[in-house]
Amino acid sequence: MTPEFRWGACSEVGLVRQVNEDSKLAAPPLFAVADGMGGHASGDVASAIAIEVFEAALKQSDSISDAVHNANKAIFQRAAKDPDLTGMGTTLTAMWADEGSAQIAHVGDSRAYLLRDGQLTRLTTDHTVVNRLVQQGRIMPEDADRHPQRSYLERALGVDPEVEVDVHVLDMSPGDRVLLCSDGLFGMIDDDLIQNVLEQESSPQRAAERLCEEAVHAGGNDNVTTVVVDFPAVRKSSATDPTASYAAAAPTPTRLTQTGPLGTSESGTVRTLSHSRSSPAPSPIRSSSTSSPQRPRRKGRVLVWVLGLIALLVTGAFVARMSIGGSWYVGDDGGRVAVFNGMPGSLAGVELAKLENRTDLRSESLPELYQGRLKEGIKANSRRDARAIVADLEKLVASPSPSPDAAQGGESPAAGQGPGAPEDPPA
Ligand code: MG
Repeated sequence: MTPEFRWGACSEVGLVRQVNEDSKLAAPPLFAVADGMGGHASGDVASAIAIEVFEAALKQSDSISDAVHNANKAIFQRAAKDPDLTGMGTTLTAMWADEGSAQIAHVGDSRAYLLRDGQLTRLTTDHTVVNRLVQQGRIMPEDADRHPQRSYLERALGVDPEVEVDVHVLDMSPGDRVLLCSDGLFGMIDDDLIQNVLEQESSPQRAAERLCEEAVHAGGNDNVTTVVVDFPAVRKSSATDPTASYAAAAPTPTRLTQTGPLGTSESGTVRTLSHSRSSPAPSPIRSSSTSSPQRPRRKGRVLVWVLGLIALLVTGAFVARMSIGGSWYVGDDGGRVAVFNGMPGSLAGVELAKLENRTDLRSESLPELYQGRLKEGIKANSRRDARAIVADLEKLVASPSPSPDAAQGGESPAAGQGPGAPEDPPA
């Protein structure tokens, strides 16, 4: 019998985006937030598939890890069938709640927070390049949520046939309040304000709405989604370890790595497991945390250096993969207009894009305004969008003496995606 959870949910498109690519689930005992990426054509598709398949899978199975893997596979297969959806993906942070316990499955940079006894604790780790750099001491933690590259994901659903899933098993207490949210919340307001709202609003629905309102009021640069769940009193006490049933019910993955408690909540209340069916190379951080403390110190240092090198390579590979898979832009290549798959620039020495197609259109034949934007890279929502922008630029050159101002103001067919278009950052 499902306990009677009190819950609330909210999702807003914000003030900048044209489409809400977030999706949410509030169907006790299941709750989830998904933040899609891949442009207007596909981010919302990916997040919707994630929620739909996740919920459906748990009607057939009792494994939250399997449910996330099923969602990943469904998105990947859908993208493989439709070129317009190539590179789409989504985050997923989901909770399966029960009396006195909960499982949280997590991939990407949406988050789960726990409010308990006046303390707000983050339960999930962001799978982002920026978070990796924080762990390496190259970025201060307080700068991470406002970092311009904070949305570069290291893990997402739908990008690869297999995905590594973090599963957190928690002991819950009466009065605990859990928040699931997309990065449109904590990217706009800090944790202190999040905690204040959660403490001030007794109604979970009002709390969810207030959080959305605060994010929009702070600028609304991204879609924002919140799900707030209040845990009821435990009605039975027969189980000495309320989490044991979840652990027993979990499938036996090909690789199961215990990575230790997260956050600063009471020690022992959160156990973190990482589920992967594909047995990819362990991430350096996790490998280092599980290396033997009995090894000689010199060997340990060599190991740290090797792992650090692997960390850079893995980070670069992930960035390149995510960039190449999900982003497009039109830029300059050797004086010619070209289509690139990825993002302009580089990170940690890794180029974030590869050349898709170099056209015969000379960049210098375009108005100066467009030449400048080409050097920065004109963002496209898909390969088709990028080709349309090139076609529009070709028309621009062929048309008789258009002024840059006229073109920017919407006369050019490319204006919607070109220099005058608003930024549309990745998920
Ligand atoms: Mg987002």
